[in-house]
Amino acid sequence: MRGRVAVVTGGGRGIGRAVAERLGREGARVAVVYRSNDAAAEETAGLVEAAGGEVELFRGDVASAEDVRGIFKQILETFGGVDILVNNAGITRDNLLLRMKDSEFDEVINTNLRGTYYCTRAALRPMIRARYGRIINISSVVGLMGNAGQANYAASKAGIIGFTKSVARELAERGITANAVTPGYIETDITGELPESVQQQILAQIPVGRFGRPEEVAEVVAFLARESAGYITGQTIGVDGGMVMQ
Ligand code: NDP
Repeated sequence: MRGRVAVVTGGGRGIGRAVAERLGREGARVAVVYRSNDAAAEETAGLVEAAGGEVELFRGDVASAEDVRGIFKQILETFGGVDILVNNAGITRDNLLLRMKDSEFDEVINTNLRGTYYCTRAALRPMIRARYGRIINISSVVGLMGNAGQANYAASKAGIIGFTKSVARELAERGITANAVTPGYIETDITGELPESVQQQILAQIPVGRFGRPEEVAEVVAFLARESAGYITGQTIGVDGGMVMQ
């Protein structure tokens, strides 16, 4: 991966941070995209540098077409290309369907699904020019199995899987692969907010018997990001302690 340019959206915290650090350790030049938490993003940058990687931070909203255009323009000016794109930025706005507000539905779809679409579209031109690309989209087990209280989130994450397969088919002949990763419950700010009783209920559904770690998702992302993974495309790979067995 040495010298490859990797864009990691939502790289300021959680899974994205672990991915940025891991790709940096493997020699990638990392562009970290985050929305607002400057302190967290700076911390990520420090970790990538400590791992021996080159890193630049880009602040903006992946749900905004204008922001994404601007961010990718800056990334291309800074690094000269995009080889690896990890669409990881994501949010939850949980509510039962009867109580769900349109704004909760829209925010989740716009960040998770539309953001993935905008960033992928922006990365395609440089990838097609280089006849090389690795696109890795972070979906979720919830996109495969559904979850009460997360109809908006499940729809966005299932949408990412269909999107990934279509991108994979469109670009397979151009040296570009696209795959989805479906993490189960990973210890980050998203899961840290769950009440203790809910955490216990979830643990009961995980055969491995524990939550996952961001580094365990980064392991699979790094595998798919390598040049040697060029014959794997359109796949959905679980990192979920056995929650969903396909
Ligand atoms: P975190 O909440 O820990 O971090 C989210 C990151 O995304 C932050 O860096 C945040 O930026 C950034 N972000 C959020 N919205 C936007 C936006 N509109 N534009 C740009 N950046 C944005 O999330 P996790 O690490 O837990 O999750 C990462 C991904 O993995 C998500 O897609 C999530 O759905 C998915 N996932 C997570 C699971 C889990 O158990 N944690 C399980 C399955 C999937 P900032 O720091 O500036 O706010």
